[in-house]
Amino acid sequence: MIVAIDGPAGVGKSSIAKMIAETCGFYYLNSGSFYRAYTYQHITQGGNPLDNEAVLETAKKTSLSVKDGQICIEGLPVEEKLHTPSVDAFVAKVSVFPPLRSYVNTQLREIAKGLDVIAEGRDVTTVVFPDADLKCYFDAKPEVRAERRFKQHPEGQSYETVLNKIIERDEIDRNKAVGALKVAPDALYIDTSYLTIGQVCEKVLSAIFA
Ligand code: C5P
Repeated sequence: MIVAIDGPAGVGKSSIAKMIAETCGFYYLNSGSFYRAYTYQHITQGGNPLDNEAVLETAKKTSLSVKDGQICIEGLPVEEKLHTPSVDAFVAKVSVFPPLRSYVNTQLREIAKGLDVIAEGRDVTTVVFPDADLKCYFDAKPEVRAERRFKQHPEGQSYETVLNKIIERDEIDRNKAVGALKVAPDALYIDTSYLTIGQVCEKVLSAIFA
């Protein structure tokens, strides 16, 4: 079984997908972490993250794997290095490049083969797993998403900066030529603005077991 969840940044996809994975024993696949890992690796090696071809070259030389839901570079977990302001600033622009997208998508489909998977991202319901057994689209107003992020990291950037960055990333993600963020016609649409994580989980679980 494949459950696919798309939606913009800060909407609760990761928290909910992880809970569902745990509850149902599904394999958790976070497509955004692939784009983040390649962005991180390229920046760390001193490359220009705006040079799409160069990032693709870096990607092809970088071995990514997923262990217990955590993304690894050359076998080592890197998750906590992937949510820095520098990766946040470039990942949407890095992931615009169609050849990089198809490189990532091939890996996601390969990993998912024969498994029960819950996958999350921006185009997992529309491009990566268009035949998923259940498709969900989570949404929430940018202000609500920014507030959640701000509360998670109050020591970091101001609320206004977080909000502006979310709006900027949404804009890029919605306007990609390939893999743009959009609602699949057959997706279960959930506005998470005024729901708890538990309430959203319940809705998704009901749909899985319907
Ligand atoms: O989900 P997360 O915020 O970690 O994703 C980081 C970025 O990766 C997104 O803003 C988006 O630009 C890109 N992404 C994508 N397609 C996906 C998942 C993420 O373009 N399926």
